[in-house]
Amino acid sequence: DAKQKGKNQIGFFRKDIEEDVIKRLNLITELERAVSNKEFIVYYQPYVDRDKNIVGLEALMRWKKGDNILLPSEFIEELEAGQYIVDVEDLIIDNVLDDISELGFSFPVSVNLSIKSLFRKDLSQSLISKLTRRKVKGNINIDISHNILNIEIIERSFLENFEYIRNLIENLKKFNIFFSIDDFGTGYSSLSYLSKLKVNFLKIDTSFVKNLNDKDTKNVTNAIIALSKSLNIKTIAEGVETVEQFEILKSMGCDYYQGFLFYRPMSKSELHKILNS
Ligand code: C2E
Ligand code: MG
Ligand code: MG
Ligand code: MG
Repeated sequence: DAKQKGKNQIGFFRKDIEEDVIKRLNLITELERAVSNKEFIVYYQPYVDRDKNIVGLEALMRWKKGDNILLPSEFIEELEAGQYIVDVEDLIIDNVLDDISELGFSFPVSVNLSIKSLFRKDLSQSLISKLTRRKVKGNINIDISHNILNIEIIERSFLENFEYIRNLIENLKKFNIFFSIDDFGTGYSSLSYLSKLKVNFLKIDTSFVKNLNDKDTKNVTNAIIALSKSLNIKTIAEGVETVEQFEILKSMGCDYYQGFLFYRPMSKSELHKILNS
């Protein structure tokens, strides 16, 4: 009867929650182990100019769990919930700078920084010392007079404490560190913020690129590109998968393009091959 059915549903419901909790607890335990074993690695996705020349790279976190390479969607939320994200992003920056000096890239590499890393008290100091340490070691490829690091921040980060982020950008700019706004258009930030933050790049979110056939989306994308141009901010379109999207964005004057149409994220050794081919 109905009463019995209701009871069973509650039973099922509770079992679902239990399974979820157990899954989460397992993930937390595995992440703890992964952090101490330094199982996080960097994949690189190049982005290109309108002639398809590589002009920059984005460093993307991967979890090398045994023979599997896990995507951020499978673990990043849990990592960001704790303090581990700060250690892992610190490790990623070290790896990126080592890879830059080893492979000798001549273009900037973006790293995605979480809110927790951005609000580290010692972030500026740590970045500057990481850069200078490698230069001092005599590695000529790390030249801090060039822009080699590009920090990607999401809108949520500067809504948290606008003045802090504004100062961080101004301060690190003196050390030739670039800043980008990631996933632009997905948050709630006011356009007036854009003129007050001296960022170098704005990344147009995939959700716009996917819907360029829609008239309104197309108009908004066009406006974002025009606004960026007037503020001297370079635009990067994210998630470009088709020639048609590439052509439309080119006609709008978008500066750079990132997406599977050009390159997928790849390991350091794959990148090495591409850069030398
Ligand atoms: P994101 O920063 O917006 O990075 C771009 C994501 O779009 C990457 O996913 C990339 O593989 C994917 N992508 C690029 N081109 C295409 C395309 O043409 N089609 C499709 N479908 N996808 C494309 P990924 O590597 O899975 O990373 C997802 C998100 O995880 C990133 O989005 C970023 O928010 C976060 N993430 C990655 N690494 C880090 C990190 O070191 N720290 C933090 N805090 N977040 C990170
Ligand atoms: Mg990004
Ligand atoms: Mg993005
Ligand atoms: Mg995105």
